Amino acid sequence: MRAHNFFAGPAVLPVPVIEATKDAVIDFANTGVSIMEISHRSKEFDKVFKEAQNDALEIMGLDPKDYYVLFLGGGASLQFAMIPMNFQHTKSEYIVTGEWAGKAYKEAKKMGNAISIASSEDKNFAYLPKDFKVSQDADYFHYTTNNTIYGTEWKSIPDAGNTPLVCDMSSDFLSREMDYSKFSLIYAGAQKNIGPAGVVMIVVKKSWVDEKAKTDIPTMMKYKTHVDKESLFNTPPCLPVFAVGQTMKWIKNEGGLAAIQKRNEHKAGLIYGMFDTYNDFFKGSVIVPEDRSLMNITFNLPTAELEDKFIAEAKKLNMLGLKGHRSVGGIRASTYNACPVESCEALAKFMEEFYKNNK
Ligand SMILES: *Cc1c(COP(=O)(O)O)cnc(C)c1O
Repeated sequence: MRAHNFFAGPAVLPVPVIEATKDAVIDFANTGVSIMEISHRSKEFDKVFKEAQNDALEIMGLDPKDYYVLFLGGGASLQFAMIPMNFQHTKSEYIVTGEWAGKAYKEAKKMGNAISIASSEDKNFAYLPKDFKVSQDADYFHYTTNNTIYGTEWKSIPDAGNTPLVCDMSSDFLSREMDYSKFSLIYAGAQKNIGPAGVVMIVVKKSWVDEKAKTDIPTMMKYKTHVDKESLFNTPPCLPVFAVGQTMKWIKNEGGLAAIQKRNEHKAGLIYGMFDTYNDFFKGSVIVPEDRSLMNITFNLPTAELEDKFIAEAKKLNMLGLKGHRSVGGIRASTYNACPVESCEALAKFMEEFYKNNK
């Protein structure tokens, strides 16, 4: 039996994705070898790779003529450095809304003139700053759509004017409809919402790379290398890419981002509803409801002892991964795309019972 999986990452995946990956580990596309044993230049693997890229762009409503999808190693964390290495010429601008956003900014500072134009650190990242202006002479503007640790999520795209928009979407990538054409570069570590650990997906405007990316940097760190070689300059993480490709097919089968978003809103609503009903007991850590994440729901109980008890009792009911990030404590329920409605219903029901027994 599958557990109710609320881990923040690596995290829950759709069952059909796990089953297709299991089959490919045994015998990939009737080749008689495993997906782990076949050349990344074979026609069978090439088909998987190209379909994953094309399906991703189709889901986002982007034209393959204008965008490129890269599958690289190094996780989202390597992108923190690669982005300024390639695109920071005179200055870049960042918003610091959490741990990951802060790490991205720190890497950019190491490489030159990166400026933080807004931060929510004054209130321990419990809100999203709305009052800022992006310079029109910056090389790019970087933000993080969803703050995995603090449970805030941008509901609309910040206005960057004509400054190229760069975004870390690791923890809410493909969770909702959005005008993806506004971005010059999107990156997401797969292990939160689209696949297993080991690959980061990058969607980048070809014209931005051609016109603006630096070329006098190490080969592997250069976007141009990967774009020119169609993301096969070196051996890609074949197995994770296979699983990501299966997730793209799953999203399409589920009805695309409109259907996925609707379900995510319903799921998160079940849990936030408990905050609103029992607000003297479940204390949401995000200050304004409009900033609440649909992916990572963070809250506290009246005491740390009650939080430990909550997590232990939930575990007995097969609900895993509810402990908040080690840097903030409390409780965090991650309700990514593949987290079933039934898991959120089970958690909401448990919250209500726990309240009645412990209030
Ligand atoms: C988890 C996470 C990261 C780090 O991803 P890695 O792939 O482990 O480097 C970066 N940004 C966000 C928003 C995350 O949630």
